[in-house]
Amino acid sequence: MTLSIRAASAWLGPGRSIENAQVVCDGGSITYAGPATPIGDADEELTVAGFLMPAVADRHVHIELSDPAAVVRGGVTAVRDLAWPPERIFALADASEMPSYRGPLVRAAGPMLTGHGGYPTKATWAPAGTGRELAGPEDSVKAVAELAARGATAIKVSLNAEAGPTPTDAELMALRDESHRLELPVTAHPQGAGQVERALGAGVDELAHTPWTRLSDEVIESCAARMRIVSTLDIHSYGRDTPEIRAAIDNLRRFHAAGGTVIYGTDLGNGPIPAGIHTREVLLLRDAGLEPEEILQAMVRAPLDLDAPADLIALGRSPLDDPAAFDDVRLVVRAGRVIVTR
Ligand SMILES: [Zn+2]
Repeated sequence: MTLSIRAASAWLGPGRSIENAQVVCDGGSITYAGPATPIGDADEELTVAGFLMPAVADRHVHIELSDPAAVVRGGVTAVRDLAWPPERIFALADASEMPSYRGPLVRAAGPMLTGHGGYPTKATWAPAGTGRELAGPEDSVKAVAELAARGATAIKVSLNAEAGPTPTDAELMALRDESHRLELPVTAHPQGAGQVERALGAGVDELAHTPWTRLSDEVIESCAARMRIVSTLDIHSYGRDTPEIRAAIDNLRRFHAAGGTVIYGTDLGNGPIPAGIHTREVLLLRDAGLEPEEILQAMVRAPLDLDAPADLIALGRSPLDDPAAFDDVRLVVRAGRVIVTR
């Protein structure tokens, strides 16, 4: 099943904005992306008046707290779930690979690894099993190995000292070592004095949230050199002006200016975050100093290259000129199948 899409303009990846674009998909992969060309007949041909680009990945969600079908209809074709009971989320991740599944591709960390009675074991949003309490360094290794065997694509650790005990330093080192041995990134939820510094010291690869209390320039520079940050800015504001959103934007602005890698993520499922591309998160990334093309890079699942996933969206106009363009999703293609045309 081949699908050909022509568009007035497109962004195929960094530095690759073109007019009169064409993308051809065969099954789940891209077989051509570039200027419009008289390629042989496709099974299905579409022409969109607007702007074509790769579909979006949201790399911090809790998908079962949202509506997966609405997520994909809103232009997000892949998500990474960062805390949910393993028996539920890995089954969903497997199901999401089937054409019958109506949501985005789901990748998952499984439960958050935490201290005894630690976050999120008592959190009201979290069903039983969303946190896995560690019982020593050997248990840390066992937990990571089990999650890796089940298909985890990251290991999430709670460093939320405001909501209960966190893993001990020995547990943290052990889970980091085992994760890295298995080539899995460790992503942390740091909250409370000194926890970002602790994540740095432990060699954590990623912060699952932009920290929302002010970090020193020295800490920011160390983070920029050694970690990625998943943005999740709007959960600190939901459109309002709060001390937390001001601090988070200030932290992310300095992190980005110091060369740190920012990844788009919304913490979908946490409060009133809408399913699909969240334009207000995009506007906040702009407030944090990311250039329009840097924002697209942070958001997309993968550039439109040969053999890349056939996940695309079309918007009414270019988001490089105006991020509000993300409110006008006209086409969504996931794994080479047209999910939405408007
Ligand atoms: Zn979360």
